[in-house]
Amino acid sequence: MRSVSIFGATGSIGGNTIDLIARAPGEYRVVALTGGANIAGLAAAARALRAEVAVTADPARLDDLRAALAGSGVEAAAGPAAIAEAADRPADWTMSAIVGAAGLVPSLRTVARGGTLALANKESLVCAGPLLMATARAAGARILPVDSEHSAVFQALAGEDAAAVERIIITASGGPFRDWPIERLATATPEQAVAHPNWSMGQRISIDSASLFNKALELIETREYFGLEPERIEAVVHPQSIVHALVGFSDGALMAHLGPPDMRHAIGYALHWPARRELPVQRLDLAALGRLTFEAPDPVRFPALRLARAVMATRGLAGAAFNAAKEVALDAFIARRIGFLDMAGVVETVLDRLSAETGLQIAAESLENVLAIDHLARRRAAEAVATKAGQR
Ligand code: NAD
Ligand code: MG
Repeated sequence: MRSVSIFGATGSIGGNTIDLIARAPGEYRVVALTGGANIAGLAAAARALRAEVAVTADPARLDDLRAALAGSGVEAAAGPAAIAEAADRPADWTMSAIVGAAGLVPSLRTVARGGTLALANKESLVCAGPLLMATARAAGARILPVDSEHSAVFQALAGEDAAAVERIIITASGGPFRDWPIERLATATPEQAVAHPNWSMGQRISIDSASLFNKALELIETREYFGLEPERIEAVVHPQSIVHALVGFSDGALMAHLGPPDMRHAIGYALHWPARRELPVQRLDLAALGRLTFEAPDPVRFPALRLARAVMATRGLAGAAFNAAKEVALDAFIARRIGFLDMAGVVETVLDRLSAETGLQIAAESLENVLAIDHLARRRAAEAVATKAGQR
């Protein structure tokens, strides 16, 4: 029996992971499940899967969690330290699906103990790519990408010579605002931004898809995971979300990965790797799809990709600063304190200020450095948000 843990079990990726595991109950022993405010959902999953421990990120909800688990035999715990300790518990396979920089510590602790990490939390690589990869290498741990584009690249690379890779192309749906003129983007609401045309995902990544900040994070994720130079990594808009990524080789061939927009594919591939097992995803009917189209992203309406290029050029702590500023800007947009287009403005202001103040290019070799810059970037972003909010 394989032992598994799921960080972010109450989220969209967490739920899809549970869906796959619950289909083969005899095959898995569940160690840890973690969640946030949704105590009922966390407790229900922990009971159904007979988890060893359930952890909520919020210490104020520990009593509620204990009550919800009464008589089940599932241990209850709370707070970031308890989440980190849950990652230390031995498990053969661990899903990292917390949203945001909060996913970094459990990702790191999992690979530090040599565990196999299924990585949905792209922020781990954006904030601390070199540290995460080096920690995994030192401990002999494997990291399996779960972002759909990165799983697609990983699959296209299977059996290939890494030295023959010329470029990697990841696709972006373009989100709900792909055709919107810039004047209209300025007035976009969180409700409009969350309505993704193809994928059903958590609120935060859905809005990041609308601004292309999700694709910006994914360019950096590609650079850190596959180790390719930034100029060899491209993003192309593909509104149908059927081709997830392509790998270009030195002979000019492009290997594409196609599939329906269903995260259970990438999750299942990581769960069963290196085997392929049957998955409950829709099979594509290409004739019914009819047409797959591609277009260049618009750098004026969607500045996030340009900011990602700057971050990749600087590396060091720039990724952690970029992500933290983006998280604060996203919160401010959700709270209607700033407009949709202001998010990129806030992030750019923070990157400019921090590179002047601290020199972001110093190596992000320690978790301490990463957390310090994350903290500082959040403060600077809050200031930039206050300025923008005052101008509205
Ligand atoms: P979600 O919002 O649906 O779920 C997030 C999970 O993280 C929940 O369990 C929540 O309780 C937990 N969480 C939130 N804040 C936390 C904190 N501070 N500490 C501990 N736990 C916390 O998010 P999602 O859409 O499932 O995305 C999860 C991760 O996977 C993100 O990094 C996202 O970018 C990535 N991802 C998601 C998809 C998708 O289709 N949803 C695709 C690719 C990558
Ligand atoms: Mg993705």
